[in-house]
Formats: sequence, C-alpha cells, structure tokens
Amino acid sequence: MEQKKSHMKWSWVLMITFIVLSIIDIRFGLLGFVCIGTPIYHALRGRGKIHCSKYCPRGSLLGKFLQEISFQNNLPKSFKVKNVKNILLILMGVMFSISMYHALNAPDVIKAMGFGVFRLMMSSLVVGMIMGVIFKPRSWCQVCPMGHGTALIKKSQDNKKSALKNEIAGYKRAS
Ligand code: SF4
Repeated sequence: MEQKKSHMKWSWVLMITFIVLSIIDIRFGLLGFVCIGTPIYHALRGRGKIHCSKYCPRGSLLGKFLQEISFQNNLPKSFKVKNVKNILLILMGVMFSISMYHALNAPDVIKAMGFGVFRLMMSSLVVGMIMGVIFKPRSWCQVCPMGHGTALIKKSQDNKKSALKNEIAGYKRAS
C-alpha cells in the first residue's frame, strides 16, 4: 500500500488559523465541519485512522506545544476503557446535535451553526490541552470521540471483510 506522507509537523497551523478566523468572523467556525468530516471520510474509504497519524491539526497542536510543559504522566487505565470512549462519543454527538437543532431555529442560521461547531472544536481542544498538561501531551487522542469513531468504522469494516472471507472459504470447502 502507498505510504502517505505525515503532515503532523505543521498541520497545527490549520487549527490556529481556524481559531483566528473564527474569532474574526464566527461564520468561519463552519470550517470545523472539515475537521469533523475528514477523519470519517478517510475511515469510510478504508484508510482506518490515517487522519490521526498523518493529518490531524488538533493532534499536531497538542503534540507540538505541550511537550515542554506536560507533566508526562500516563493516562490512567480507567480512562482508556471502551465505556468511557463510548460515553464521550455519545455525549459529544448529542450535545452537537442539540446545538445544531437550536442553530437551525436561530435568526442567523449560519452564524449560529458556526458558533456551535466552533464551541465543539474549542471544548475538545481545551479538554485536550488540560489532559495534555496533566498527562502525556496527546492523551486526549486516547479518548477522542473522532479517533474512537474512526476506530469503530475500521473495526466494522474488518469484521465485514473477515465474515466475507469465511463465507468464501466455506463456499470453496463445500464445492
Ligand atoms: S484522536 Fe482525535 S485529536 Fe487525536 S489525532 Fe485523532 S482525531 Fe485528532
């Protein structure tokens, strides 16, 4: 398979640009949809968690700026369990859906949606930074709903592939 180049050394610039543009005009907050959609797009194309390892601006920013100030503690095992990741994924999905629902009924839909996306992006970044200072810089990535979501997509694709392989093997044996 072709090896994709990593952009993690510089992709933090995209996150800073996103923040600055959104502060200037909250409608730029809609760009956050790109950040939310890209990992899902890659995962659906069968590229697994490539977004996390090669492109993610948030992961890049956490890795770049927290290295010197992080206490470098290991994230407790209790944080990494499937239930915690599922709860975070559901919580973020529900909160985001509610904010988009309210935005659709707001007088200025575009601004309200931009604000909703920006708030989601910032809350995950702030939590990620706090975790990155207390624990290792990219500890957020171990519980991140986007990372977990893409891992779930990959797992379901792998399950389908192995079920298909078993079916073909069974068919060959029978014929
Ligand atoms: S786990 Fe989340 S924050 Fe970390 S690299 Fe992946 S998408 Fe980005």
